[in-house]
Amino acid sequence: MLVVLAIDALEYALVEKYQCENLKQKYYGKTNISEFSQPRTMVLWSSFMTGENKEKEILKLGDKEMWNKQFDIKETFFFNFQDPKIIDLPGFSYDKKQHEEERELLKAYFATDSPEEKTKIRNDYNAHAFSHHRKIKTEFLEALEGNYDFVLGYFSVADVIGHLNFGNNLMMKMIYKDLDEIAGAIKHNFIVLSDHGMKAIGQFGDHSEYGFWSTSFKDINNPKITDFSKIIVGMM
Ligand SMILES: [Zn+2]
Repeated sequence: MLVVLAIDALEYALVEKYQCENLKQKYYGKTNISEFSQPRTMVLWSSFMTGENKEKEILKLGDKEMWNKQFDIKETFFFNFQDPKIIDLPGFSYDKKQHEEERELLKAYFATDSPEEKTKIRNDYNAHAFSHHRKIKTEFLEALEGNYDFVLGYFSVADVIGHLNFGNNLMMKMIYKDLDEIAGAIKHNFIVLSDHGMKAIGQFGDHSEYGFWSTSFKDINNPKITDFSKIIVGMM
């Protein structure tokens, strides 16, 4: 079994700061996403799974419609596996309802001027994201016990929580420790991959212009996100 721990907005600097040894593995570094005009989640995961730069194709769909995009397995490198399990990946097996609710709450947060209302929305938003995270974590840990030849688990918690709480050091540290614990539970060869990291904009977080990768088996330097399909298929 090959495993990809796909983490949205896992920030290189925070992996270092919080000393997440399981996430770092033996070799780790930044991925190069400079070929893209902006670090957009949907664009980057689409490009990862197809091995091609999908920025034009995805941005053309528009901000709302892009989240409905679903690639056929034949367009992705997952097709190389007999029995792959792909959990919650944007552009493939994404829980649209869950993530739509997140984006609605985020919009509502910035739309109101009332501090009480902001606090209430932030609490709902965080609770919603953490409950989804626990569900995905359970599903991922169960899949690791199965007979799949490839398992990919996509974890959105660092991105979703980070957007509203990046200045909350305690909360971010707790998330990174949890993600590190998940990495520690994987007993197969695995790749950790993020689409982009996150930088502080006051108390909020915005996407940074590089991703994160790690492996236990090979130093891959400064790969592009479109290089991973070949790297992973080459490991089979
Ligand atoms: Zn993202």
